[in-house]
Amino acid sequence: MNDLKELKEYAAINNIPIMQDEGIDFLTTFIAKKQSKNILEIGTAIGYSAIQMARVNENIHVTTIERDEVRYMEALKNIKKFDLEDRITLIFNDALNVKLDEEYDLIFIDAAKGKDKDIFEHFEGNLSINGYIITDNMNFHGYVQMNEEDIPSKNILGLVRKIKDYTYFLENHMLYKTTIYQVGDGIAVTERRG
Ligand code: SAM
Repeated sequence: MNDLKELKEYAAINNIPIMQDEGIDFLTTFIAKKQSKNILEIGTAIGYSAIQMARVNENIHVTTIERDEVRYMEALKNIKKFDLEDRITLIFNDALNVKLDEEYDLIFIDAAKGKDKDIFEHFEGNLSINGYIITDNMNFHGYVQMNEEDIPSKNILGLVRKIKDYTYFLENHMLYKTTIYQVGDGIAVTERRG
């Protein structure tokens, strides 16, 4: 679709990280298969993935949170352009300051690397009983698989260590079972243990 292509081009020109095609395909196929209806996304950027998720079918509602004002404004514009104002609720705030009462059958975490665990713990109470939490960028552009000595900066190394901690947290959680799929930039799918 042309408008989606425009969004991707805007993101590329303005250096805004949006989900890769492979990741989007995985996510939208997952939503269709699990019949997710009420979705919470942390990290809207310009609304690209929220729009893609909402377009899976018309029964879906997406609530999405963004803390950057410029991106939030752009997302508002894009959601309007796609005529999805009724099915995408956009919240402008730091997600960790947002308290929600609703339950979601899918929580999609795509925010600041290094904050995934805080965000997971902040919103896990909003997960419906058979719901899923999906986290993107578990590979962090391949840095997570690199030898630490080869990682080009201290900042990146710090984030890599946080992602490794988060992976450990997910994989050893008593309440949840997690599978990490090697698609896109690495996608973790978490569900309650049976
Ligand atoms: N999901 C988007 C997509 O694929 O179209 C891409 C999201 S981008 C990778 C991450 C976004 O999360 C950034 O725009 C950033 O400003 C936002 N973000 C990071 N930490 C956040 C937080 N604590 N609360 C809200 N937004 C946050």
